[in-house]
Amino acid sequence: MKNIFDTAEAARFCEEFAGGNTDLAMRVYTSRLIGAEESLVLHGGGNTSVKTTMKNILGDEVEGLFIKGSGWDLATIEEAGFPGLDLAWLKKLRTLSSLSDEDMVNQFRTHMFAASSPNPSIETLVHAFLPHKFIDHTHADAIVSLTHLPDGEDMVVRALGDRIGILPFIMPGFPLARAMAELYEARPGIEAVVLMFHGIFTFADDAEVAYGRMIDYVSRAEDFIAAGKPEPVKVEISAHAAEKVLPVVRGAVSRAAGQPMHLDLRDSAEIVSLLSRKDAAGLFATGVLTPDHVIRTKNFPLWLDLAGVADDEAAVRVEAAMLDYIDDYDAYFHRCSGNAAEKKIRLDPAPRLFLIPGIGLIAAGETVKAAMVCADIGEHTLRAKAAGAHLGRYADLGEGHIFAMEYWSLEQAKIGRGTPPDLAGQVALVSGGGGAIGVGIARQLMLAGARVFLSDIDRSRLETVRDLLAAETGTAPDILGMDVSTAASVRAGIAGVIRAAGGLDILVPNAGIAHVAKIEALDDDSLARVMAVNFNGVFLLIREAAAIFRDQGMGGNIVVNSSKNVFAPGAAFGAYSASKAAAHQMGKIAAMEMAEIGVRVNMINADAIFDDHGVSSGLWDVVGPDRMRSRNLDPEGLKEYYRQRNLLKTEITADDVGRAVVFFASGQTPTTGATLPVDGGVAAAFPR
Ligand SMILES: [Zn+2]
Repeated sequence: MKNIFDTAEAARFCEEFAGGNTDLAMRVYTSRLIGAEESLVLHGGGNTSVKTTMKNILGDEVEGLFIKGSGWDLATIEEAGFPGLDLAWLKKLRTLSSLSDEDMVNQFRTHMFAASSPNPSIETLVHAFLPHKFIDHTHADAIVSLTHLPDGEDMVVRALGDRIGILPFIMPGFPLARAMAELYEARPGIEAVVLMFHGIFTFADDAEVAYGRMIDYVSRAEDFIAAGKPEPVKVEISAHAAEKVLPVVRGAVSRAAGQPMHLDLRDSAEIVSLLSRKDAAGLFATGVLTPDHVIRTKNFPLWLDLAGVADDEAAVRVEAAMLDYIDDYDAYFHRCSGNAAEKKIRLDPAPRLFLIPGIGLIAAGETVKAAMVCADIGEHTLRAKAAGAHLGRYADLGEGHIFAMEYWSLEQAKIGRGTPPDLAGQVALVSGGGGAIGVGIARQLMLAGARVFLSDIDRSRLETVRDLLAAETGTAPDILGMDVSTAASVRAGIAGVIRAAGGLDILVPNAGIAHVAKIEALDDDSLARVMAVNFNGVFLLIREAAAIFRDQGMGGNIVVNSSKNVFAPGAAFGAYSASKAAAHQMGKIAAMEMAEIGVRVNMINADAIFDDHGVSSGLWDVVGPDRMRSRNLDPEGLKEYYRQRNLLKTEITADDVGRAVVFFASGQTPTTGATLPVDGGVAAAFPR
């Protein structure tokens, strides 16, 4: 591991940051250096602190401890990420014989310099009771990897030398803080403390020295592990296609979790190769590297060996493995909660990590981000366990400690627990995403909490839409090129959605094209092209999605963007009206056939929608000029014409269609095979 401290950069921080407090400026600088190294800390893990003096409002000098606040990530932390606390007071707490976690947090909140600060790290008292100005703490892969060996303490000393202290696993909070302080006072020469099954602290009165010690000790651990490492023996594994297995896993994990889950597949050559090690099952189906991770990943991954299992039997195998996992989790909960001082409520028993030889690592999460964080931790865990495998068998931290962490109120508080939006956890695919209606549908689905994939044959239009929605909502929809008129393209597109998100819940066939010609002038090619997109496109999407819905076993929603032309066709518009009517009918057939797997299929009949925030409707680009000519109108006049034509005298927007899609997709009524007009009321087009 490289020491990347740069004197010039450090000087720049001291000039530009922290209102002239160079202690804080240096704290921000070296914290970011630590945060930049993924094998030291991941996603908000680890913490750092500095002790410095500040002037209070009366002008008195006070000693403060500034420590990483919860919710901040070391890689991007700023001065505001270090809440300041009254250090003299914190030190006095050491005289207590015990301090509950709730009382401890209350002491923090009532002895902070700024009421608006985030909560300080739960390891605050460790930092307060040690005398050093700068303290760095990480869960470095190489260090924790050594601590999981059966003779871990010996290994740590052999790797790091004798200027370090070692503590057994102790829950973070008051007991750990006292133990650290006592260890340091007994051996004041030490430069670092390794916490078994947890991580490492380094400290010094200078920021560069504390950071340098972190890099130095972690490098020693890495070198020790790397020395004499043999090449692992691999076994050949017959692989299933990931896109076959993902929907099955998603269905099973979502049922176990009681809500739809996002998946994140990691199948790099490195990960697949690790999972094909001869010793992989015994090595990787083990507990977390550091107890912090249990909140994100649960203690154990689910090891799933599908080698030699036929595709159509995979679902049965996954379901059986899931039931075993849930049984084991229940047993663990009952064993450990019986001893707990206060009554605990069981969390959902669903695994968060699946390890499947031949396929890769699959992480599950309530949100896209939770799945991503879980997958990142999973990858690091595989690497760390593999790195130390030649030194001895991986030993798990005892389940009592794991349980205490998993069900610790302060850990639970780290995970956001609001009311999820209607479509939380759901994945939607909207075709024709480069046009105006696609924008409105995507916007409303995203606002309702779905992860949205937009497809279109025109990639540059898609990119425009993605940038527009990202600027509006802060989240970019996923985009993919797809030609809905060919089966191969639809199949590849849906496989892409499955590989990226693990499954599909909402399908919105929305792509459509128009062609203006009377029957006598309608040539074969134009008719075939309109049918291929407006009818075949809808059919192909429904057919390919149906297989996914069946494999997932979670129901689903299809909302076809149909047309008011189905009930009120227009002269010189035969290709469009007939193709839309055919797709509409196919939607009703789909409703009849797919009800048995819980999939609802509904149609939306919208009237003219011209644009959305500068994104034009491809269809109206074709139809508009002709309509304007035939009615002697300009673009504004045409909009006004359509407004005046409906009963409510209103302009129909893309968001109106989007809200109708969300209505169906959120399952608010037991409705399938139905048609909802979104047209301001056009009597000639009333469904019948
Ligand atoms: Zn820690």
